[in-house]
Amino acid sequence: MAAGHEAKRVLVVKSGGEAAVAEWRRHFQAVAPHIDVHWWDDASVSPERVDYALVWEPEPGRLAAMPNLRATLSSAAGVEHITADPAWPRHLPLLRAATPEASQRMSEYVCMAVLALLRDLKRMVRQQAVHRWDMFTTERAATDTCVGILGLGAMGAHTAQMVRGLGFEVIGWSRSRKALDGIECHAGDDELPAFFERCDVLVCLLPATPETEGILSAKTFALLPKGAGLVHVGRGSHLRYDDLAAALDASHLCGAFIDVFEEEPLRSDHPAWAHDKIFVTPHVGAMASRRARAVFFATQIAKFERGETPDGLYEPARGY
Ligand code: NAP
Repeated sequence: MAAGHEAKRVLVVKSGGEAAVAEWRRHFQAVAPHIDVHWWDDASVSPERVDYALVWEPEPGRLAAMPNLRATLSSAAGVEHITADPAWPRHLPLLRAATPEASQRMSEYVCMAVLALLRDLKRMVRQQAVHRWDMFTTERAATDTCVGILGLGAMGAHTAQMVRGLGFEVIGWSRSRKALDGIECHAGDDELPAFFERCDVLVCLLPATPETEGILSAKTFALLPKGAGLVHVGRGSHLRYDDLAAALDASHLCGAFIDVFEEEPLRSDHPAWAHDKIFVTPHVGAMASRRARAVFFATQIAKFERGETPDGLYEPARGY
């Protein structure tokens, strides 16, 4: 990628701890040798020298104290861990790690979860635990099942196609209307109730914004067909957990995968751990490798410096 004539740039990293810096440096070196990678607290790098900061949960005020910062790079798909800082430099570009590898991994997770709900994997796990051989079959096949995806962005659009490849009917919902091959696309709040009524499995791949907060609630669950499943891989703020537990306990919903929680790590006495219709996973839906994220950000920095719009640009006005 780098032709060797680019101006030197300084990138500080706070993601994975100081121990991860050598790995970040190696991956950036391979694709953008003009970018010097340093640990965020490296005392030999004065704040004036920093061009880019690749961060996870930066201490409030630290980014604002870098007067020559050109852009902030979020080491994850979400940016709440940066925008929570009242002083984050909102006049500068903020980029999310939106790698193709993360979309691939998320799609794999959702396929796993949707199939596990379809085939009642929980029942198999329970049977094995008590050494019980009890042949059973579930009601329907993928071809008789509609999967609805909330959010048709980088993750949702890729996931929709992979789930469709398994034979499911797939419908999706986003803010602006999409045109995706083989996917029935819905848009806007007015179309949401009719969308929910079709979903045998509902997948949440929305960002955390004031508009999407609490979108997975009793009201939503009541609209889903009886026996529907939930795959929640968006953000903790989307889900009203007690409403989900009530819908599962009333057997209105059949089961759920929950990968994201309002408070992470999930406390050990949270009822979700022990619920027999819930799979809890520790926010593992789609973390991309450091290599993929370094390649992604090196590419976006190059685009940005050529005056082009980089991918994964956070837009404060829309909140994602
Ligand atoms: P993205 O490309 O920004 O896509 C977001 C999608 O949500 C877009 O289709 C957008 O509609 C839609 N949307 C946003 N607000 C909406 C609203 N009010 N009404 C209807 N649709 C709305 O984001 P992404 O990269 O696909 O990631 C999506 C989310 O997945 C992230 O924000 C995060 O919450 C979650 N995630 C989870 C993990 C994990 O490990 N569990 C990892 C990565 C990401 P438009 O297309 O019209 O803008």
